Amino acid sequence: MRPETSLAAIAFFALAAASCEPTAPAPDPVPASIVAVTGEVAAVPEYRKPVVVRVLDEDGRGLPDAQVQFEPAGEGHGNVNGGPLAVASTDGAGSAEAVWTLPSTPGDYELRATVTESDVFQPEMPTGLTVTVPAVVESFSPALDAMLLGLGDRIERALQRMQETLRLNPTLEAEHRARIALLKRPDLDSEIVAGRRFLEHPAPSIEREAIPVVTVFPSEEMRHGATRIGSTIEAALPVLEGFLDAPFPAEQIRVWYGFELGSSGGGGTINMEDEGGYAAREGPLPYDAIVYHEMAHSYIGNESLTQLLELIVYNVLRTGSTDLETWPYTRDYPGLQDSNEDLYALMDIHGLIGHDAVARGYRAVLPLPTPYGQPLCEACVQAFVDEAPAEWKAAVEAKARRVTF
Ligand SMILES: [Zn+2]
Repeated sequence: MRPETSLAAIAFFALAAASCEPTAPAPDPVPASIVAVTGEVAAVPEYRKPVVVRVLDEDGRGLPDAQVQFEPAGEGHGNVNGGPLAVASTDGAGSAEAVWTLPSTPGDYELRATVTESDVFQPEMPTGLTVTVPAVVESFSPALDAMLLGLGDRIERALQRMQETLRLNPTLEAEHRARIALLKRPDLDSEIVAGRRFLEHPAPSIEREAIPVVTVFPSEEMRHGATRIGSTIEAALPVLEGFLDAPFPAEQIRVWYGFELGSSGGGGTINMEDEGGYAAREGPLPYDAIVYHEMAHSYIGNESLTQLLELIVYNVLRTGSTDLETWPYTRDYPGLQDSNEDLYALMDIHGLIGHDAVARGYRAVLPLPTPYGQPLCEACVQAFVDEAPAEWKAAVEAKARRVTF
């Protein structure tokens, strides 16, 4: 056999093998079922709940490009994507989503999701495939309802933040992954409402009877810590309000407890890492001090001014003393030194002019701009200089100018 013949035979064989593939196109898979990914919804009135369903083929695989019509079960069952009904196509995994805005009155409601067609060329084909998502809408109190209305957004932002900070904190990877897994539960918002993972109690406040402290937490095992943080805030509020001679600058104190690692505060809101998680990773500051710090940020953005408020609340609550020399918790203050800056420069001022003069300085600063991350404004510097006796004015001014953030 000549070599060419042999090659031709091989080529023919390859062609024959290829032709074993079916020549007719496979029939498109058709929708065989629709299932709800979203479980029973538990929410406050007017909550916006993303509802996810999946369309499956007869082998149980997600079916892309199927049309799903979402429709509240009747008049008064809310709206979907802002209207009476909405149609969405399934994605590559067979999932389709619409946002159900729940009604404004408590009650039991339903949203229907129906597969309307499987193929744009056969728009008339009815499938009869429907799934119903039930919802229980409850109202608790004005403060709680307002906070729980933002639950979905809070979970979403916490998830984004944890995904961002995971990249910056490789040593805390396990902690981040656990938090991300919790936040990704599709029904976490409903679990929180149905499980009553929230607390409200009034804290005595100056110039008004009380201010509601509302705490929401994502996991049942955080209940004890969430209860404790309410008492922590209640004890701190009179010290903070008294020192600043100003009521807490919000209608309520909102605490999102345990949604994130790390803490932040401002505008009446406190985002606190849960105490158990903080202790487990051996956070550097006393936990309660961070609570006071984040409370103080509702009054003041400047970080150094806020840190001194944190020290004042912490130490005055525990010792009753306004003398900085006696305080057990000072963030490692080295004592009066020319080189001191930021918090330590403010502590130098406290040492020079005393607690009451510093308090009057803060009260004058409160209406002034104190943005985070910036030096004290000219009027802020002057507020402390004004409270200093003549012999310390120059020193206080120099110290106040050493506050850089
Ligand atoms: Zn801060």
